[in-house]
Amino acid sequence: MSKKRLFGTFGIRRIANEEMTPEFASRLAASYGTLVQGTVAIGGDTRTTTPMLKNGIAAGLLSSGCDVVDLGILPTPAIQYAVRNYYDGGIIVTASHNPPEYNGLKFVDEDGIGTRDDMEIKIEDIFFDGEPKRASWNEIGKFYTNNTIINEYITEAIKGVDIEAIKDAKLKVVVDTGSGAGSYTAPYLLRKLGCDVTTINCQADGHFPGRDPEPIEENLQDLISTVKELNADIGLAHDGDADRTICIDELGNFVLGDKTFTLVEKAMLKENNGGTIVTTVATSTAIYDIAEEYNGEVIATAVGDLLVARKLKETNGLFGGEENGGLIFPDFVYGRDAAMTVCKILEIMAKEKKPLSQLVGELPVYHTVKMKTHCPDDQKENVMTKIAEEIKNTTDYTLDTTDGVKILKDDGWVIIRPSGTEPIFRCFAETDNIEKSKEMTEWGISLVNKYLE
Ligand code: MG
Repeated sequence: MSKKRLFGTFGIRRIANEEMTPEFASRLAASYGTLVQGTVAIGGDTRTTTPMLKNGIAAGLLSSGCDVVDLGILPTPAIQYAVRNYYDGGIIVTASHNPPEYNGLKFVDEDGIGTRDDMEIKIEDIFFDGEPKRASWNEIGKFYTNNTIINEYITEAIKGVDIEAIKDAKLKVVVDTGSGAGSYTAPYLLRKLGCDVTTINCQADGHFPGRDPEPIEENLQDLISTVKELNADIGLAHDGDADRTICIDELGNFVLGDKTFTLVEKAMLKENNGGTIVTTVATSTAIYDIAEEYNGEVIATAVGDLLVARKLKETNGLFGGEENGGLIFPDFVYGRDAAMTVCKILEIMAKEKKPLSQLVGELPVYHTVKMKTHCPDDQKENVMTKIAEEIKNTTDYTLDTTDGVKILKDDGWVIIRPSGTEPIFRCFAETDNIEKSKEMTEWGISLVNKYLE
């Protein structure tokens, strides 16, 4: 298969109106529309450039003969939900957690999962080397709007949990949607669940005046202090397109995505008497511990939420996700979903009648250390092969080459992965002890350096 020229792991992101212009978006959408030839849903996040690009893709799709349904401003998973249930494809205008000057396009197929590599290469071939279909005047697509999806998405997410239990718990929640697409869903969802809701940055604004759209700890200081000040039960934050959820416990501690994953995994396995859990090779051993305890089976894919989503579909899996707070509930949306994650976490707190810090404290404890090291792009393949050869010939370790090189020892693991965008290797280790994790990460880095030429 030839190499992708435009697409990254999920769509294309560029500086808006420099590279990501309406003309660029329109031609790409027409190339996609040439292949889909059906009804395509479009929508996007709160960025200042979203309406400009959305109109560009609508024009391209109509020109190729597709019908277009504009769903408005809404979270990425709400569009994926809509496409899976009603449409033949979708294009989402969003740059997720990237800074405000960026925007992007995420393409999804008819089951709502991001498009496959082979489809992306076909789109690129038409975009660069071919010509998108030009429908004649009497075959031009029709344009509709549908603004009922947001409500349906919220209602259906809530149906997946015990609403009465959550209502009875009368949880005090502070929510920070970072002025992103979650501003149209999260506060309303929480009120429907009977929570006492305080909002921060829940006014939709593409300038992102309150905080950067990426929900990392340093960007969530206002949320953390508000949770403490109000004695709230939980703080919730989303990224710009509201597919990821980050939790702050009642003491103001940032809860790592691995912990949220494990907490929800435990509840899902208990409720369903076991099931298949899909995650990536980069998530915590805690996920395996919980699976073992509650009759679950873990399948690990290479890093990437689309790979997890596809594996969940293929295996009829129960639940999946990544370590960054992106959790996937395959019965609802084949992609990372923030609304269902919020519902599930609140349900766990309500049913267990325990504060979030305690629930997290009951999970298995592991420590991760991350480092990176320089390596020219043209040496990456060779370095990985050499490391894998060395490990294969050692009886003390197990080798996993699903993604990069993962070396498993009795008391932990280290993963060495080449970056797809920078001349570096990322290396991180996890064990039950922070010093040991540091040692293992350094060992991983030394293996890379050993085989550098
Ligand atoms: Mg996102």
